[in-house]
Parts: sequence; structure tokens; C-alpha cells
Amino acid sequence: MKYYIIFGPPGAGKGTQAAPLAEHYNLKHISTGELLRAEIAEGSPLGLQAKALIENGQLVPDEVVEGMIARAFGKYRDVDGFLLDGFPRTYTQAIDLDEMLEARDEAITAVISLMIPDETVKQRIAHRAILENRQDDAREEVVQNRIDTYHRQTEPLIEFYKQQGKYHEVESLGTIEEVGAKIRALVDSL
Ligand code: AMP
Repeated sequence: MKYYIIFGPPGAGKGTQAAPLAEHYNLKHISTGELLRAEIAEGSPLGLQAKALIENGQLVPDEVVEGMIARAFGKYRDVDGFLLDGFPRTYTQAIDLDEMLEARDEAITAVISLMIPDETVKQRIAHRAILENRQDDAREEVVQNRIDTYHRQTEPLIEFYKQQGKYHEVESLGTIEEVGAKIRALVDSL
């Protein structure tokens, strides 16, 4: 099984790129953000717990998202691998993910990091707020919180994956198709 991580700040284009990429390589796309939004829409206990944190631009507890990932790994067997989108987002999640995979005799294949300046992030998120009606996209201070959370808690993972020799960057500028072609060229070269 292949295990790819699509990495980057909010608004970098992870979700947009992940769906066609997963289809192209027969991977199961797992977005922890989408799974959490589905729980909120359902009004489940987990959704209720996550709602306030998400709407504030903060992360939900590690064990919550790790549980969702573990369940997804167990559930999808007819695929050539997984494409993780929005996970891991903390050191603990990255270390626990490595352990989860090691227990299955598996390992991360590669981390694909979408690079984009903070200012472009803000423009893209403002646009997405209108298109997708996402609560956490609509308020400027929440967007800023998410960007700060990314720099503080998630960006340090770049060093973690660089040390493992698994980290690869793709500039997420240009059209969706252009960025997609760059990602496929990278994946094919691995
Ligand atoms: P996303 O759709 O990936 O931007 O995620 C939306 C929100 O869901 C984030 O701002 C977090 O509040 C929460 N979230 C998604 N993935 C994670 C994760 N791996 N760890 C903690 N919180 C997460």
C-alpha cells in the first residue's frame, strides 16, 4: 500500500488537488476536515465536541482525528493506498501515524507539500467561503487563527519528514490543472 500525505497551509489547494489525484492513482482520499464537517452536519457527539474548536480556527484533539484515521485504514481495502489530506497536523499525530503504519508493516511513501504565500492563502479562503459556505472560512480572525495554528503546530512537521527523506515541495500557483500536473510528475518520479 502507498501512503501519501498532501501537506500545506489552509487554502493551499490540498482538497482540490487530492480528489483527482486519488482517482488517478486509485487511492482512498481521507480528509480529516471533511470527516469532521460530516460529523458536525450529523450532530453526532464527536461533531458537537469539534464544532466550537473548528469555528475558532483551533485544532481538535489528536485522539479524535487519529481514531478517524485508524477506522478509515481498517475500512478501505480495495485501493492501492491512501492519500491523507489535513492529517497529520501535529507532532503527536505524525509520530502516532508512523506507529500505526509500522504496526501494519507499512510506512509513509511521501509527503507532498503545497507551497503558497500567506497572502494568497487569505485570498483563496475568502473566495472559498463564498463557494462552500464554510463557517471557519468566513471570519477574518478565524482565518488568521488557522494560519497561525498552521505555522505553530503543523509547519514543524516539515523538518520531521525532511529528516525521514520523505518531504517534497510543489509550488501551488497557477491553474488547478497546472498544479495537478506538477504533483503527478513528482509522484511518477518517486
Ligand atoms: P481542513 O478542512 O483540513 O482545513 O480542516 C478544518 C478544521 O478541522 C481545522 O481547522 C481543524 O479545526 C480541524 N481539523 C482537521 N484536521 C485536523 C487534524 N488533523 N487535527 C486537528 N484538527 C483538525
